[in-house]
Amino acid sequence: PKKDDSAYYFESYAHNDIHEVMLKDAVRTDAYRDFIYGNKHLFAGKVVLDIGCGTGILSMFCAKAGAKTVIAVDKSDIIDKARENIFANGLSDTITCLKGRIEEVVLPVAKVDMIVSEWMGYALLYEAMLPSVLYARDRYLAPDGLLVPSHCNLWVAPVADAEYVADHIAFWRDVYGFDMQPMQRDIYADSRVQTMNPAALCGTPSAFRSLDLHTVAVGELVFSAKWESTLAADVSGALDGFLVWWDCFFAQSRDEPGITPSITAQEWSASGGRDAKEEDRVAFTTGPFGTETHWKQILFLIDNKKKAPKQLGEAEAGKKISGELEYITAEGHARGLKIKITWGLEEEGEKKDQVWALN
Ligand code: SAH
Repeated sequence: PKKDDSAYYFESYAHNDIHEVMLKDAVRTDAYRDFIYGNKHLFAGKVVLDIGCGTGILSMFCAKAGAKTVIAVDKSDIIDKARENIFANGLSDTITCLKGRIEEVVLPVAKVDMIVSEWMGYALLYEAMLPSVLYARDRYLAPDGLLVPSHCNLWVAPVADAEYVADHIAFWRDVYGFDMQPMQRDIYADSRVQTMNPAALCGTPSAFRSLDLHTVAVGELVFSAKWESTLAADVSGALDGFLVWWDCFFAQSRDEPGITPSITAQEWSASGGRDAKEEDRVAFTTGPFGTETHWKQILFLIDNKKKAPKQLGEAEAGKKISGELEYITAEGHARGLKIKITWGLEEEGEKKDQVWALN
């Protein structure tokens, strides 16, 4: 029998290892801490809902920042540890732990002033936890209530990296002197979770989608968006694929706009996701120009067996390459994700396309 997706999912959060990885991801955890401790006035006296509390870390940040009540919800057995962690730190009077799905638990209040959650997955939407947060937003968040974090930008850039391809594709042709080409079957069907060197990018990154979490609807998480990149002046080699990553931003009020990626991805990411003009804003990036996070980036390699690789050289330098990028829900795997990318140079009439799965 097929394993129930969700039972398996919550079981995966029951053990220490995954929480250790998340807590030690300082880019991630520091951003939440910096926002919460740096904006105590927003939390003081407020009722906060922590969706997917895990070890209880974000709830404890909020309690320390002066929240009146924090409701910490998690369906995974990890919440039994959260309850003990919270007790051990003398915060049990402020934080109430509720075990269950956010869609099912009965909250002790009708409305909350803030929702804090760390729901982000690979390529942002893999794992599909965001719909649970949006469900709770629509049901429990006061009309002027704040979501923490509040905005995300999705990025894509073209990749040319012969060394990576040799290391991971050609590799199978000679493994200790043995031909393992069967290992190459379907090798392009899955995306790869991979931290890439910025030098692997052969064109400018393109912000193909911005999400305002206060207003986005679940139905908008399946979408098709246009992207466009300018190929580098020194571009050479084959177009090997595409790299996708995301940034995340913490607004102090609902009216505050997200950072529209007007600055280049390089500038944005090199600043750790903090716009130089607005240094008090908290944000972080999972992109190749920033400090590595546990989300890494997602690499989509073009199936060069089916599509003759596009050779890039002087003739292509500075030219535009563009197309669409589609987020598709994977059939039979509720938490899965498929991504379709189409691409072509400006002068090429016909665009190529490929679909990848995130598994
Ligand atoms: N907030 C913690 C843990 C984040 S991991 C931290 O920042 O370290 C996400 C957590 O959300 C997991 O523990 C998972 O079990 C929980 N979760 C995911 N979907 C949920 C849902 N619908 N209801 C309740 N908990 C959920």
